Amino acid sequence: MGVYAADAVARDLERRYGHRVIELERYAKANKVWQTKVKRMRLPDLLCVDCGRRFESKGKTKLEAKLSDSTVPGRTWRDGGMRPDDLFVFARVDMKADPVRVSNLVYVTRRSLEDAVSSSREGKRKAVSEGAEMDRVWPMWAPDYAGEVVAVDEERKKIRVTKGAGTYLYPNGSRWGAFHTLPAGTAFEAGQPVASCFRVAESVGCAGEGSWDWRADLLSGDEDVRFPAVKAARFLGTRTVEDVLLGIAQDEGNDWRLRLEAHASLAATRPASVAALLSFASGAASAPEVRMEAVFSLSEIDSQEAVEALSAVALGVGAATADEVRAAAAWGLGTGARTAPGRLLRLVDDPSVLVSTHAAAVLPARLPEECLGELLDWLRGDDPRRAATAAHLLAERDLVTELVDALAGASEKVRGLIVLALGDASREAVLGVVARLDAESRAGLAALWAKDDDWLRQPETDGVLDALRLQTLRF
Ligand SMILES: [Zn+2]
Repeated sequence: MGVYAADAVARDLERRYGHRVIELERYAKANKVWQTKVKRMRLPDLLCVDCGRRFESKGKTKLEAKLSDSTVPGRTWRDGGMRPDDLFVFARVDMKADPVRVSNLVYVTRRSLEDAVSSSREGKRKAVSEGAEMDRVWPMWAPDYAGEVVAVDEERKKIRVTKGAGTYLYPNGSRWGAFHTLPAGTAFEAGQPVASCFRVAESVGCAGEGSWDWRADLLSGDEDVRFPAVKAARFLGTRTVEDVLLGIAQDEGNDWRLRLEAHASLAATRPASVAALLSFASGAASAPEVRMEAVFSLSEIDSQEAVEALSAVALGVGAATADEVRAAAAWGLGTGARTAPGRLLRLVDDPSVLVSTHAAAVLPARLPEECLGELLDWLRGDDPRRAATAAHLLAERDLVTELVDALAGASEKVRGLIVLALGDASREAVLGVVARLDAESRAGLAALWAKDDDWLRQPETDGVLDALRLQTLRF
């Protein structure tokens, strides 16, 4: 949900408000799950590199101004690098809609939430072992119907709106310290906040290019200030600040994340920083999370050096690199700033299942000629693992002509794998080549297709009988 919200917020900020938004929190907008968790600095999700404003998006099924809070210093709702004029963005996320719908974006500055904190409520507190985390909710009223504001009684903190043919008087504002509403006469949509204990932000627009003195922030002693500037530098041009960034990168007293990002900002134009990231990724002294973060940052660099570095990590050159780090490097070669499908095929054939599946999953839909040729070779060979991989990858792409062509020269075992793969390809595509199949393969395929006619093998019935039989116990 968070990923959808962050993406919708970023687009809204760009299209409607003219910001130039980057992910400040790496992967704020990506849903790939890795087992190695990187403890990142507590930072807002998004940053505008033109005006320097930070944005923290919060998506929930129900629209609510809710933030996690804690009694632990450094973990309160205020912490995490949000300055008074930075914006929290609350949104409703409908995961049941297809495509997922994000709506009713509400922009609020940290200052406004601060001003209204006496009206906020503490939610249920979790166990102390979880860091005494709790939720804090700032009340607002967002009716689930559209209407128009009829009248606002500021003294009694009540608001009357149209509701269908009649009107409705909202009574709960009297409990709030302040009462902010849409003005009388304003029409509102279903789900839009009409009244709240906090002031909804009026100026969300970008102050424009050059309005942020990011070079000064690079020199700040406050990491919450310095980190966004370090990260933004790669988008704003590092030429004039190379020495500063290099100083940050090489100062061992700095947090490793800051040093790594300084190299990442320099890496697009400075091959030595790619080498530095490679040593973060594969150096013997690096902790697993450092290796992962270095791989992620290498994946963001559009250069041949970065491709070479990712390849080296993925192949585990020179170090006993954990499989997940290698898998992440493979993932970067397939989905990163510069993709290298040719490098992936060797990884598809890696003995580690983690590495090979990650590499296979990110091979492009349109296979380059060199990859296709290699896969066809695998079908001609007698390595069943390679043959199965090749058959899968071709079938996923509906390359059925190639599969049928490969049948003729294949060993019996591989022929079985090819027929199985044809069963996975779209039936429409296979029907076009079915006449070219020998009788045995055709019979095999017919058996696979018979599954579609078997009502007990459909997604909603598959395994149901076994599950029911487990429930026949009665003592
Ligand atoms: Zn901006």
